Amino acid sequence: MKSKPGRDDRQRTQRESIRRTQATGRAQADRAARRVGDASAASVPIGPGLRRAFVVFIVLFSLVALGLAALQSLTSAPVNAPFLAAATRAPAATVTAATSRRVGIVSGHRGNDTGTICADGLTEAEVNFDHAIRVATQLRTRGFVVDVLDEFDPRLKNYTASALLSIHADSCAYINELATGFKAARVLDSTVPVDEDRLVGCIRARYGAATGLRFNANTITFDMTKYHAFYEIAPQTPAAIIETGFMNLDRAVLTKRADSVAKGIVDGLVCFLNRETE
Ligand SMILES: [Zn+2]
Repeated sequence: MKSKPGRDDRQRTQRESIRRTQATGRAQADRAARRVGDASAASVPIGPGLRRAFVVFIVLFSLVALGLAALQSLTSAPVNAPFLAAATRAPAATVTAATSRRVGIVSGHRGNDTGTICADGLTEAEVNFDHAIRVATQLRTRGFVVDVLDEFDPRLKNYTASALLSIHADSCAYINELATGFKAARVLDSTVPVDEDRLVGCIRARYGAATGLRFNANTITFDMTKYHAFYEIAPQTPAAIIETGFMNLDRAVLTKRADSVAKGIVDGLVCFLNRETE
């Protein structure tokens, strides 16, 4: 009986020894693992900072990549892309800037015929030319580039400018007491009706104010609204024609107050060109 307990005691002692050894090993392993963990943490004390820097780098890189991709799509966009349409409109804007200070003045009948002739030999063509030159001089003083054009000037073909105005005057024959005043009109079938209506509106308001002549809408003729130059110039050039007054009843204004006539025309053009309200 004794031997059995003795053997059992030895076996128990061995098992406890093994357990202790295993426990010690586990404890040492745990401590070692903690040391490694601490050491690895301690060896990169700026770890979180680096990670943040890395994230920031990735975000910035992505943004740059997106920007480059957008740029690439802009330059290789299909023809009907809206931004390309805007890009193709840019040259038109450049053209507008280049012509924004250019004005064409047609000196009515000049180079072709006399127009109406008064009993004393005064011709409409010379009255018109006097006005055209005064208008051109005043516009140039204000910094505009002015072309004074003949009635059938070759330069009218596809003429491009901020505005074109043809200057004429009405009959020198006595018709009746109503044959007085001025009128302005644009082409009947306008390509740029809003612009041309504004041009006519500006001239009507400013010319009337400068000369005191009344607007004689009743005598606007088919010849004015189908005026030949309207069909020769570039369609986008806003154009109008003015009949400055009747050479019979309004002769004093047209000849003795020619500077007022010119001022009224210039004021009207500047009103239009500077987008002033009528
Ligand atoms: Zn005429």
